[in-house]
Amino acid sequence: MAKLTIDDLDLRGRRVLIRVDFNVPLTDAGKVADDTRIAAALPTIRHVIESGGKVILMSHLGRPKGKAVESLRMDPVAERLSALLGKDVKKLDDCVGKDVEEAVGGMADGDVLLLENLRFHGEEKENNDVFARALARLADVYIDDAFGTAHRAHASVAGVTKYFDKCAAGYLMEKEIRYLGGVLAAPGRPFVAIFGGAKVSDKIGILENFIRKADSLLIGGAMSYTFLKARGVEVGKSLVEDASLGVALDIMRNAESSGKGFFLPSDHVIAPAPAADAEARVTDGEAIPEGMMGLDIGPGTIEAYKKVIDGAHTILWNGPMGVFEIEQFAVGTMAIARAIAGSSATSIVGGGDSVAAVKRCGLQDRFTHISTGGGAALEYLEGRELPGIASLSNK
Ligand code: AMP
Repeated sequence: MAKLTIDDLDLRGRRVLIRVDFNVPLTDAGKVADDTRIAAALPTIRHVIESGGKVILMSHLGRPKGKAVESLRMDPVAERLSALLGKDVKKLDDCVGKDVEEAVGGMADGDVLLLENLRFHGEEKENNDVFARALARLADVYIDDAFGTAHRAHASVAGVTKYFDKCAAGYLMEKEIRYLGGVLAAPGRPFVAIFGGAKVSDKIGILENFIRKADSLLIGGAMSYTFLKARGVEVGKSLVEDASLGVALDIMRNAESSGKGFFLPSDHVIAPAPAADAEARVTDGEAIPEGMMGLDIGPGTIEAYKKVIDGAHTILWNGPMGVFEIEQFAVGTMAIARAIAGSSATSIVGGGDSVAAVKRCGLQDRFTHISTGGGAALEYLEGRELPGIASLSNK
């Protein structure tokens, strides 16, 4: 846990460099398509403004690969931020150098400035020391509020911190650490972890960690078919990762020997292909006939999973239960989202797809915590140390 929070800092008249995660999706017309990440950083930004600090914001956007890319400039982000804050946001055309230093030098207390896309400089991803120092020269205090980037040891996240006496986690970062860290440290029990999505191989670390931490694991999505096949069940032409069959068996044996509930779908919605016009039907049991694909959990599975969810005190959910992008295979994912929202458990959802599903049913206010960090949340939940958090704690 970071030693300092921003409430401990005296910010009046100080130049405050804040690493935010403004890596937002853009429309074809170059407008911000979803401002969730910008909105999530507002409490920290407002606090610095109200404390009389000078706000210098920095973020990456997309993958410009170390050179300036016109379509990935931060201008639309500055425009949306300005609308959300109700205040002018000055956007600069670079993030380091003389012009940037001059613009910072001209700031008044409470001003907000947004630097250009950090990844226009290849040095950002290389955690280059000269680049980190050039960023650090712009400010007196450093705040990291970019949980979504905390798993990357990049210059603006890791390298920069050694040039500041005062570094702190912003409110968003603090909240993510409090909830995700709290789940790992002392969950209310029973603790139920629900995992879906496509690949077992992406989630081996997290599954292994949660067999230790959770009381029950509910599995859905394409991932289930690798587990079912490993147990010898017919899965037709469902998505299976043959290379992970051994690991899948180990995980199930491990769950059994530690007395943990490890639930796999007992029925499925199947179709010949994951298409909107494919003819879908529900299986009688866990086996899937030849030529068919499992594309969602079935009604029997939904009922069984709901019972486990209803008895939980803590729930963590990551990954969709089916091909939820197609309506006829979205029923399981939506039912699980509703069941969690309706339970009285502490509920945490992480991962872009599950968060999208929660929003699609308008249930975001019914969850205790919606994590903003996909990859970062997964690595944190695996129990790994994240560079963005470690570099704050080392202060
Ligand atoms: P992940 O990135 O591993 O969380 O996987 C998310 C993706 O898994 C989504 O795009 C889903 O459409 C996909 N998915 C979920 N269930 C299935 C399934 N049964 N068959 C194929 N793809 C699936």
